[in-house]
Amino acid sequence: MRVGDTTDSAIVIRGSVLRVGTHAAAGIGHVRVSPGGAICRCGGRGCLNTEVSIDLLRESLRISHGPMSLRDIVSAAKGGDPGCQQVISDAGAAIGSALADLATALGPDRISVGGPLARAGDILLSPIRDALEARPVLRGAEGLLGAGHLNESAETLGAAAYVFDMMSLVPMPDTARGGGPL
Ligand SMILES: [Zn+2]
Repeated sequence: MRVGDTTDSAIVIRGSVLRVGTHAAAGIGHVRVSPGGAICRCGGRGCLNTEVSIDLLRESLRISHGPMSLRDIVSAAKGGDPGCQQVISDAGAAIGSALADLATALGPDRISVGGPLARAGDILLSPIRDALEARPVLRGAEGLLGAGHLNESAETLGAAAYVFDMMSLVPMPDTARGGGPL
């Protein structure tokens, strides 16, 4: 999963992204985490994306800290600022709640968390790990949660992988492929 402007996720099975139609399955951003929460851009209420986003983090800190970039927030949190640590930890708890539901249903071998907010390390990952550990069926799953390695390039790489994946599904003439292997 990737935590940035929004929170996105996908299921990877034997190196391929699992899809429902043209969309990646298990888009965690639209899992409901707050039944009485704000309306999401998808039209649903209380989706994870209405509870966790970079804009919401900035807004939570605006009165006490003034305008901050995400880089500032992560840097201050790692430097010990309790307010910045709090908003990232709260984001982790909300993500963990939704992720624990998905993981309980799907039983993944590994959950990888990347994206700009993942640079906060254990400030984000600890509450996610706690939420997973709170579910009896997930308890004790060694190495289930880890930091991703793609971070800021994940979105670009994901888009490229999607295009290549779709090209492999849609028959194309050799001339359109450029006559050689990708
Ligand atoms: Zn939504």
